[in-house]
This record gives sequence, structure tokens and C-alpha cells, in this order.
Amino acid sequence: MYLYNSLSHKKELFTPNHPDVLKMYTCGPTVYHYAHIGNLRSYIMEDVLEKSLRYMGYNVKRVMNITDVGHLASDADTGEDKMLKGAKREHKSVMEIAKYYTDAFFTDCKKLNIKIPEIVEPATNCIPEFIHMVETLLDKGYAYLAGGNVYFDTSKLEKYYVFNDHNEEDLEVGVREGVEEDENKRNKNDFVLWFTKSKFEDQALKWDSPWGVGYPGWHIECSGISIKHLGEDMDIHCGGIDNAFPHHTNEIAQSEAYLGHKWCNYWFHVHHLNTSDGKMSKSKGEFLTVSLLEEKGYDPLVYRLFCLQSHYRRNLVFTWENLDNAAVTYQKLIAKIALLEDKGEVDADVLAALKQRFEAALNADLNTSLAVTAVYDVLKAKTNDVTKLAALKDFDTVLGLNLLEAAKKYRDAQPKEEYGSDPEIDALVAARAEAKKAKNWAEADRIRDELKAQGIEIIDTPQGAKWKRI
Ligand code: AMP
Ligand code: ZN
Repeated sequence: MYLYNSLSHKKELFTPNHPDVLKMYTCGPTVYHYAHIGNLRSYIMEDVLEKSLRYMGYNVKRVMNITDVGHLASDADTGEDKMLKGAKREHKSVMEIAKYYTDAFFTDCKKLNIKIPEIVEPATNCIPEFIHMVETLLDKGYAYLAGGNVYFDTSKLEKYYVFNDHNEEDLEVGVREGVEEDENKRNKNDFVLWFTKSKFEDQALKWDSPWGVGYPGWHIECSGISIKHLGEDMDIHCGGIDNAFPHHTNEIAQSEAYLGHKWCNYWFHVHHLNTSDGKMSKSKGEFLTVSLLEEKGYDPLVYRLFCLQSHYRRNLVFTWENLDNAAVTYQKLIAKIALLEDKGEVDADVLAALKQRFEAALNADLNTSLAVTAVYDVLKAKTNDVTKLAALKDFDTVLGLNLLEAAKKYRDAQPKEEYGSDPEIDALVAARAEAKKAKNWAEADRIRDELKAQGIEIIDTPQGAKWKRI
């Protein structure tokens, strides 16, 4: 599979580190609010990546964290603690907020056919692991204590900007927007590994540590959780593109400093879902959730299709009109699939050829819109219906659009016709079907007219030609 690697800025032929297991890590949600459909775009595309890798035969081990501590309002360690903010807003405890929004996230995933990774770990479960990492970083000289907090010292690295060459001006942006500078930092990009001197007197979640009572920084949790479950290396790390800097940059800095060697080979970044006001975010602007889509009458899988129709490395603009287009596409697709009859035998050669086209689309840097086109190729293919159904079932293990289930539902919802039954008329209707198959239109028309003269109308249905008396 060719995958774009944010680290090398190139499409690379994916090769896993180990023959028996492919290790994948995903940055999970910060559970202080519902996930918006922008967040879920990232999770949908990461889900399709995992399912594509499985489709290609890899044994994927995937881990995801749940950020229930340590993420401040600004990704640069400043502002209010997001969890505390959520708790205050709803007059609940931080743990109640975390539980509620973690469950809500899983419910959304289920509705969108996003497979939940086998290992999901809340940051609050791994405090000893984080403390151990911070201690090691201090021992190795990559960290320092200042004003009660522990900071990572970015000046100790040969190269800090791994994804982009940020220039000073880029970094000034935060300052211009009024983010106050932390005077404890020795270098501009140093970041907090462990907070003790928090400005939040009422910080709800605090743990004892060698540096005093406090809580971990946001970045350390993903390094700690992935190393805990995946070991000292991993194949693919995923997240939204907004996390490339500083979150993933800092993850690499501290993980490689801690391990003393390269950590992760491929970085998979999903680009943003934007509204007309810019990037959809939890803190500002239009905030769209799966529940809202449902309230407005959309099947969540329409949103999944909407995401699959565009490439994960392009920004995607959300408008209701665009979603309506996806809804129409989905309906038409399902109606076409509903016409297929589950009869006969699968043509293995045709099926293999169809699958090959589908796999080629995924192999080309996860070209999901081409993979959706492969569904139409199936419907147009010169083969019997069972072969088509077999291909669609196979593709749907990756696409997750419930193609066959939705088609069955569609068929069941169609009004049931009362059809006639009479051996003589049945024989004529069958003869007409044969004539049509043989392209003997004159004979087909003759039979139709003969039946019409007897007050009988022929009706074409997914189950073949039927008739009724008018
Ligand atoms: P958060 O819950 O804020 O930690 O974000 C969860 C995931 O959603 C992260 O991988 C983010 O990078 C990603 N994300 C945030 N905003 C967007 C957006 N507008 N479009 C796509 N992905 C996003
Ligand atoms: Zn992360």
C-alpha cells in the first residue's frame, strides 16, 4: 500500500516493522464535550485505514487514548484545563464529564460504523507510566524543573521541527492572539511534561509525584500509552492535521529522547472539515454533532459516505447542500443494490477482478472516492447478481456503509403488491421474459398485448416479472 507519510512528505510503500503484527496508534478524543463531525471525519478516515490494512491481510493492533486530563485550552500548555471547563459548565465532576462524553463518543462511533480500537486507554489509568517517563527524561538530561513544573528541553534535540519547517513568525501567531508566555520555559518550544504549580487551585485530578502533587501534560499521555501497549516502536500514528504541531512534534521529541531511537515510521494526518467560517472546532463556531444530523433526518452513514467521497489529505467543506447530495447518492445506490437477486453461483474470476480494482484504489494512498467508484463498477459489471452481491459485501468490510443491510431494509419498506397466480398466465409471463432475454422484442410485445387484451398488466420487480388484473 502506498501511503503519504507526513514525516517524509512523500507517498511511500508501506512496510511494517514486524511481519506478524502492524502497530497503529490513534490520538483519541478530549472528552469534555461531544465530538463534532470534524473530529469524526478524522476517526472515520482512520477507521477506513485500519480496515483497509486488515483487508490487505495485516494483523492490526490498534491503540487509542482518551484524554481525560492535562489538555489545556491552548495546545501550547496555556489557558484553562479543558476537562475542568466542561465540569464547571455542566456542574458535574471531571470524572462524570469524562465518562459521559466517552460514552457519547462511542455511541457516535457505532452510528458511523467506526470500529473502536481493541485497546482504549484513558490517560488517568496510566499516571505511573507517565511519571516513569518524565523521571527518565530528567535523568537523561532532556528535561528540567522550573517553577514547580517539569519541562521538556527542546534545545537538547538535533531536530525539533519534524513535520514542517516552522519559522519564528508562525510561532508568533499564538503570542499575537494573546496567549501569555510561560516564563519558566528556557526555550520557546519547551513544553510541560508534568504540572505541579498549576494556576488552577481547584484542579480536580491530581496525583502525587516526585515533583509534588500535580498532573501530566497532554503530550506525554500519547507517548506513555502507546509505549505501554505497543512497545518501543510503532508503524502508523494517526490524528487530525491540527495535531501535527505541537502535539505530535512533542510526542516524537519526548518518545525518541526517552527510547534513544526512532519511534514511529509513518504519520497519517487527516485534513480538516471546515465550515464557511473555517475549521470546525469544539471551542468556536458552528458545532455539528451526529445527533444533530439525525435530528435533521440524516442517516449518519450519509455523513460517512460524504467523507469517503473526498480524499483524507484535502480539506473538506461541510455544507448542508453537500450533505444532501451525499444523501441522494446513498439512496440511489441502495435502491440499485436492492434490485439484485441473491440467486445462483458466484463467478470467482469476475469477483477477483472486481476486488483487485477496489484494492488498487485503497493502495493508492487510501483513495476512498475511487473505492466508492468501484462500487458503481460492480453494479455495471457484466456478471450475475450474486457475484455483485459478493463483491459489495466484501467492499463493505472497508467502506462500512451497510450496503446490503440498507438494501434489505429498502426492499422490505417497499409496499407489497398483490400479484396474481395462474399457471397459464404465469407461463405467458415467463415466455415474455424469455423473449426479452433473447432480445426478441416483437414476440415480447405480442405477449404483452395479448395479456393486456385479457385485462392483465405485467409488472417488473426485483424478483422478476409478475402480473396482476387491472
Ligand atoms: P480532540 O477531541 O480535540 O482532541 O480532537 C480529536 C481528533 O479530531 C484529533 O485527531 C484532532 O486532530 C481531530 N480534529 C479536530 N478538529 C478537526 C476538524 N475540524 N476536522 C478534522 N479533524 C479534526
Ligand atoms: Zn495524541
